[in-house]
Amino acid sequence: MDLFEYQGKQFFAGYGMPVSDGEVAFTVDEAVAAAERLGMPVMVKAQVHTGGRGKAGGVKFAATVDDVREHAGNILGLDISGHVVGRVWIEKASDIAEEYYASFTLDRSAKKHLGMLSVEGGVEIEAVAEENPDAIAKIWVDTIDGLDEGTARQWVAAAGLSDAAVEGTVVILQQLYRAYVEGDADLVEVNPLILTDDGRVHVLDAKVTLDGNSTFRHESYAAYDETQPRDERETAAHAKGLQYVGLDGSVGVIANGAGLAMSTVDVVNQVGGSPANFLDIGGGANADVMAGALEVINNDPAVRSIFINIFGGITRGEEVANGIVEALDRVDIGAPIVIRLDGTNADEGRAILEPHLSDSLQMAPDMLSAARRAVELAGATEETGA
Ligand code: GDP
Ligand code: MG
Repeated sequence: MDLFEYQGKQFFAGYGMPVSDGEVAFTVDEAVAAAERLGMPVMVKAQVHTGGRGKAGGVKFAATVDDVREHAGNILGLDISGHVVGRVWIEKASDIAEEYYASFTLDRSAKKHLGMLSVEGGVEIEAVAEENPDAIAKIWVDTIDGLDEGTARQWVAAAGLSDAAVEGTVVILQQLYRAYVEGDADLVEVNPLILTDDGRVHVLDAKVTLDGNSTFRHESYAAYDETQPRDERETAAHAKGLQYVGLDGSVGVIANGAGLAMSTVDVVNQVGGSPANFLDIGGGANADVMAGALEVINNDPAVRSIFINIFGGITRGEEVANGIVEALDRVDIGAPIVIRLDGTNADEGRAILEPHLSDSLQMAPDMLSAARRAVELAGATEETGA
């Protein structure tokens, strides 16, 4: 779950980190009113789930209310890497002496939290890593030990920050670490972290990705969740209680169990096709679940064929087959279906499906040939434009 910058700052402020006063505005008039309340000068900042806003013209300094009107007018509606700006954040402008970079994320291979700190702030960290890797001081924080003050101090020294910034940064890095761990974040990034002209260390930008699975223990995250951009297909699928992830391809995928669904996506790729989605219908492949899954996939105009891949375990083959037959009665499917049915009572299930087979409902003996058939059908329907 990616936060807007202003939400990230609100999140950071909850851990004591110093951020600027500001207000969100959805219209030019709201932006102007916010600036008048805050007092000039202010920054007008596009709120979108992507970085590089400054370069794209989405971050502007405003000395006067007229400037605010002009910049907000230009920024609202601006397209930044495919993200259209629907809201701006107006905050009191800061005087920058120096710009730094600070972040925490998980290093899965090291099984530790990776902290990065650099004097090369304000530019993308990928560019610094490429051109001047020595300018990034990294530390790996043990998940049990955490980050103590002494370690933070050594880290700041290794990064070579100005003397004036040391004390403030040591405090902020510990707060940032707490926000990251206690807030169940996957990523917290401050770029730039600034030293102001009057010697304060201050958070000027916030990039925060929260673990969407942690919302049950953070009441305040519901408000963040509401502003997430949604894939329409995913919204429809989640409303039906399905585990669905939208992808860009043309083969609709339905499988029982997350592991099998992932393998199915892989196999479709392996035989030269491209999956339109990941969909795990879980253990119960009854008619309701199957009809729901088919409806979601059917509403995706990019889908050219559907691959139903079921391996019965506790779920028995005849239940699955009956579920499919009943679901097909209820949903008018626009793309041909290929079924692979294996596992417990697969023979009984196949016998139930047999009388219903046609060009638009086919069965394959195993996963690989089913994937091949589905990919072939996706190609064929694409060519005829069906
Ligand atoms: P990003 O481009 O999406 O990373 O947006 P940022 O919030 O990082 O802003 C981009 C750049 O604008 C920063 O690196 C700063 O140089 C500049 N900037 C942002 N806020 C202020 C401010 O309050 N005062 C000044 N002088 N510059 C700012
Ligand atoms: Mg930034």
